[in-house]
Amino acid sequence: MSSVLVIGAGPAGLAAAVAASDAGARVTLLDSGDGLGGQYWRHLPAQRPSRNEARLHHGWAAFERLRSRIGGDDAIEVVTEAQVWAIETAESVTAQVLVGPADAAGREARALTADAIVLAPGAHDRTLPFPGWHLPGVFSAGAAQALAKGERIAVGRRAVVAGAGPFLLPVAQSLTAAGATVLGVFEAARPPALAKGWLSKPWKLFGTAHKGRELAGYLAHHLVHRVPYRLGRAVVEARGDGRVEEVVIARVDAEWAPVPGTERTLAADAVCVSHGFTPRLELPIAAGCAIGPDRFVRVDPDQRTSVDGVYAAGEITGIGGVDAALVEGRIAGHRAAGGAKSAMDSARRRRAATTDLARRIEAAHGIRPGWTSWLRDDTVVCRCEEVPYARLRSVAEATEQHAMRSVKLTTRAGLGICQARMCGRTVEALIGADTSRGADTSDRRPLAAPIRLGDLAELPTTPKRGSA
Ligand SMILES: Cc1cc2nc3c(=O)[nH]c(=O)nc-3n(C[C@H](O)[C@H](O)[C@H](O)COP(=O)(O)OP(=O)(O)OC[C@H]3O[C@@H](n4cnc5c(N)ncnc54)[C@H](O)[C@@H]3O)c2cc1C
Repeated sequence: MSSVLVIGAGPAGLAAAVAASDAGARVTLLDSGDGLGGQYWRHLPAQRPSRNEARLHHGWAAFERLRSRIGGDDAIEVVTEAQVWAIETAESVTAQVLVGPADAAGREARALTADAIVLAPGAHDRTLPFPGWHLPGVFSAGAAQALAKGERIAVGRRAVVAGAGPFLLPVAQSLTAAGATVLGVFEAARPPALAKGWLSKPWKLFGTAHKGRELAGYLAHHLVHRVPYRLGRAVVEARGDGRVEEVVIARVDAEWAPVPGTERTLAADAVCVSHGFTPRLELPIAAGCAIGPDRFVRVDPDQRTSVDGVYAAGEITGIGGVDAALVEGRIAGHRAAGGAKSAMDSARRRRAATTDLARRIEAAHGIRPGWTSWLRDDTVVCRCEEVPYARLRSVAEATEQHAMRSVKLTTRAGLGICQARMCGRTVEALIGADTSRGADTSDRRPLAAPIRLGDLAELPTTPKRGSA
């Protein structure tokens, strides 16, 4: 019996675990969180279940099917609160894991190997900086969404949702469901970009028609709750004494540069901002997987990466939403377990439809370069290390350095607690860094998560093969 290790229990990882077991493998499914479901199906913890959960999620029945299938399958071992902090590929692929509550002392260290591994760690949301974004009350839309779905907490009473992409719609819905008044959803993309992304070759959208129903649900919710949806608008400043009290919204041009004289101020106590997603590439980079020029993990039609025995699925291969994650996970799990290639023919066709969706999202909502013109000299770019835009620019100019590594060392941007997860791609854009080599970018983090020195010191040194 072959063994498969699956990292990440979001839609991609869940689908991979089930498919690998169906194909006859022994599976270990790991997630750093305390439950299954990932970002899309984030829900109240098992100790505080809600009967309303199904009403708050799309595709909840599919999640329940996957969860009960996994729970009743002796061939699948689930380990939650399992933080994979490194991947080694010296002799075999080994995942270094700490098991226990996040940040707790004395977590159990395990080194797990398997015949094949499926990487499905997802993405985190990307937020472009703007003056005042370091004030309390400014949240990434993903954080606001996680609190609303995972704890039923609204991050404010009067909230503004802004940025770019379809993700803004479920965030606004979750916020109103958690009790906030959403003053508006401000989407930076303008109608011509939306038309280019969403209306070209419309027949190709048939494969994802149910997404249209999801969209209609969000729009109905917005109408009922009178949440305005404005195109070609961006948050260009948050102001307040010690915390957010007001938000400045401006019209933007096609390149997202603010149009002077169009500023409008709203009184708000929360601003939730997202400009798309950044794939979590630290584990694939550590494993040696090739990263494409689009900065996603390169996979073949079987979801195989460039490294033998390492497969990838979900948001790390492209931002295609839950359907892409599910179908990629299924293909990856099946093939990682040695399942027949032909059995996945229809899944591969479905995957093609989700790839089309990912392209449309990028064409319609992808970040445009004009956003840098809403920065000021004192706008904090790296929030952990409080590095302002002017310092970053002047150091890059004075040292004539455009590599992330040297700018990091001279300014400390990206060296703080988030290890450049929040600011890395922003800093690279601002200094004009060459990001063509994935391994030399802000995505490279030899340690995928903070780890106590004591835990490091006590690590087992020789992983046992087949111990997954
Ligand atoms: C904060 C956030 C909220 C989102 N909410 C929505 C939403 O409401 N609606 C929507 O349509 N889309 C949402 N998305 C997009 C959504 O994530 C995807 O469409 C879909 O969930 C991707 O599935 P996935 O399996 O690739 O990744 P995810 O669902 O992100 O699952 C990845 C899993 O891997 C685990 N993981 C990551 N790194 C490690 C590690 N080193 N060790 C162990 N475990 C690890 C994570 O804990 C996570 O559970 C959200 C994204 C984010 C970042």
